[in-house]
Amino acid sequence: MVLFKELLKGNKVALAKAITLLESSLESDNKIAQDLLQKCFKHSGNSIRVGITGVPGVGKSCLIEVLGKLLTSKGYKVAVLAIDPTSKKSHGSILGDKSRMHKLAIDENAFIRPSPSAGTLGGVASKTKDSIIICEAAGYDVILLETVGVGQSETAVSSICDFFLLLMLAGAGDELQGIKRGIMELADMLVITKAEGHNLQHANKARQEYQRALHLFPAMESGWTPKVSVCSALENTGVSEIWETIKSYNEHITSSNWKVENRKKQLMYWLHQSIKEELGKKKYNSLSTKQIKKLEEMLSNGKTIYQIIEGI
Ligand code: GDP
Repeated sequence: MVLFKELLKGNKVALAKAITLLESSLESDNKIAQDLLQKCFKHSGNSIRVGITGVPGVGKSCLIEVLGKLLTSKGYKVAVLAIDPTSKKSHGSILGDKSRMHKLAIDENAFIRPSPSAGTLGGVASKTKDSIIICEAAGYDVILLETVGVGQSETAVSSICDFFLLLMLAGAGDELQGIKRGIMELADMLVITKAEGHNLQHANKARQEYQRALHLFPAMESGWTPKVSVCSALENTGVSEIWETIKSYNEHITSSNWKVENRKKQLMYWLHQSIKEELGKKKYNSLSTKQIKKLEEMLSNGKTIYQIIEGI
């Protein structure tokens, strides 16, 4: 398969084409995409998958631009994928317009891909999880997953990433107002954005308050203690600290084997989710424990979820 060979070489046109095939709703495209995905599995996994979320306007795109440039300057290959169930092909609300990351968009070691067109959140996140595999096979070592902060999407994104970064604004008044506790509990790092000029003092105060709030949360399954910091994409401050934290987190979860275990768990989660979505809850509930176990084994042996569901 020429496309696969080109993909392994890191050809960006081949990468974009492969993702388009994955996102296609044509049966014939899907078949090719699934064969490709299956081939890519063996060449995937060698990255750190970073989910970045926060309300619109918090500064996700600007931070990704600065962080992405920092990483490519260090020799990493960076892929930016978006998860936004509200986006439409023509006017996606995030990453629809690549000019928001104009420097990164023309960087030869970066690949930017807008969100798949509107669909269910699970559907969009599920396609993105397959795109991650394709990007990894193409040699990308850092995958940045941008998600619009719309409540539910954070949970979906945390089931496809290793590291979950929550961006916050320092607001006046009660810092904890309006922030869903559930989302904060998922965050491996919390960063207060736009920390420059007269806002720096507010940002530092917010940092202290969040730091205190995090102490009240239950310990994370990964054994990691979440970090809180401030940054300014405008002045490029605090951005390298974010990368240092991601790196030490990656070392932590790699040495404890949690990274591998968690990715396995995430994959199983998507298998169950996809069966429910594609075949319906009734069919899912009718499967015996033995049958489910067999499907899980097929997944561990390298079949794609789509191929497994087709065979049910
Ligand atoms: P997103 O919607 O979360 O992706 O936010 P954007 O990255 O598009 O930024 C929203 C607005 O905040 C834009 O007007 C940016 O110029 C501004 N912005 C982003 N980062 C910073 C920063 O570090 N400092 C300041 N002062 N403004 C910023």
